[in-house]
Amino acid sequence: VPEAAASDKRHVVCPHCKKPFDAEPLPGPATRHRGFKCPHCRLFVPAERVGLPREG
Ligand SMILES: [Zn+2]
Repeated sequence: VPEAAASDKRHVVCPHCKKPFDAEPLPGPATRHRGFKCPHCRLFVPAERVGLPREG
């Protein structure tokens, strides 16, 4: 199934509201700002907070 290659979805537990969700990292102007937007509380979740390795 080749569709998996195009998706960068991650399973994330929001550090703010502690609820899990699946999302792709938001595109940002710099890699240090990569992260997710929690669909539950709508707060920004930095990628490094959820154990995503930084690039670059
Ligand atoms: Zn949240």
